[in-house]
Amino acid sequence: MRYISTRGTAPVLTFEQAMLTGLARDGGLYLPEDIPTLTYPQIAAMAGKSYEEVAFEVMRPFIGDTFTDAEFKDLIARAYAGFGHAARAPLVQVDSNHYLLELFHGPTLAFKDFAMQLIGQLFQAALTRSGDRVTIVGATSGDTGSAAIEAFRGLKAVDVIILYPHGRVSEVQRRQMTTPVEANVHALAIDGDFDDCQALVKDMFNDFAFRDDVRLAGVNSINWGRVLAQVVYYFTAAVSLGAPHRPVSFTVPTGNFGDIFAGFIAKQMGLPIADLVVATNRNDILHRTLLTGAYTKEGVTPTISPSMDIQVSSNFERALFYAYGQDGAAVAGQMDDLKQGGFTISQGAYEMLKSTFKSGRASEEETSATIKAYHANHGELICPHTAVGAHVAQSHLGDVPMVTLATAHPAKFPDAVKAASGISAPLPARMADLYDRPERVTRVAGDLAAVQNVIKERITA
Ligand SMILES: *Cc1c(COP(=O)(O)O)cnc(C)c1O
Repeated sequence: MRYISTRGTAPVLTFEQAMLTGLARDGGLYLPEDIPTLTYPQIAAMAGKSYEEVAFEVMRPFIGDTFTDAEFKDLIARAYAGFGHAARAPLVQVDSNHYLLELFHGPTLAFKDFAMQLIGQLFQAALTRSGDRVTIVGATSGDTGSAAIEAFRGLKAVDVIILYPHGRVSEVQRRQMTTPVEANVHALAIDGDFDDCQALVKDMFNDFAFRDDVRLAGVNSINWGRVLAQVVYYFTAAVSLGAPHRPVSFTVPTGNFGDIFAGFIAKQMGLPIADLVVATNRNDILHRTLLTGAYTKEGVTPTISPSMDIQVSSNFERALFYAYGQDGAAVAGQMDDLKQGGFTISQGAYEMLKSTFKSGRASEEETSATIKAYHANHGELICPHTAVGAHVAQSHLGDVPMVTLATAHPAKFPDAVKAASGISAPLPARMADLYDRPERVTRVAGDLAAVQNVIKERITA
């Protein structure tokens, strides 16, 4: 299996190289050259299998010879052993044809654990074999950073550096990043918003001297390994609702477009997905793009669903690549225009996107009202991101079962949940002392040289 860049000019890589590299050297994102498909009987045979067994079958065709089957099975088993639910990703029914897919039973209570726990295992195995060491740098709007730190803390071959927007993550998210005591964990509070953090990380990857000097590796949602790990739960959820014998739809609370893009891959692999619905909060660039064909940046407005507070949605580039018939030069051109503030998608590519993705947005009021209603009517306490999804899903319900991805545990966003429902969501017992642990964080200006200096000082050479 070979991996190519969405901008067409970076070297072609293996799965292992693409995973360790993150961002391609031409500024693009890696994708498999061909998307493997699973047959109808192969999907049907997933019924009744464990999450780990399905994970192996879905991901195996993508990894080439990076790991043997036995190694890969072992790494998958380790990745999900720490989850607090035997099903890993259980479905909860909330209406006759509407289900929540609970993706928050991992160690940091958000769906990002599904990808990050696996990536941690894959990195450790690959680096142990090669004797290399890497510096993982990531930007976070809250959940990626805590999931990355949890996955990499204490690993010998890795320093993990997380940039988060100062004052713009929830207290639980911040504490999950600032309280780990391991010396290879470095939380940096950046003066700026999430897009600034993400831009700094991109700039570090594009500074090839620095990139090679510190052996930079990325685990943001641009990392192909992360997208791949997220494809799995579309299969487990759809199969338990009757796929491949009947289709299933998904609504996905969306920010960086990684999670919903994984759904697109699942569909390309042969899973019968009817609708893929992009749900945004009032930072609605993706909803506007799907309505108008124009991708135009506006400022970021903080919301009660902070993990979706972004305007530049990195993984959307991957969808564009397919919309443009895998024309890397066309994608590179659009991304150049984006530096000037936006671009207009050409007619054919726009038609493809519109036929593939539906969309909707939830205001702050609608989000809070949905949290309240789900508690009152269904007895389910949901996080604000899940509420954005649930609100948007309501207007896409029909004959096909709808699965809304419940992306975080309500206890991760206790203030918003309490304000909406009057209920305090307690943390699971295993992290009940989170508020008592001492914090360790470095505040840094939103400036490339300043961040690079801190990183050089901190890492184990
Ligand atoms: C990251 C995140 C999202 C958005 O996912 P993307 O893959 O960036 O679109 C939604 N909800 C929660 C809780 C998240 O942590």
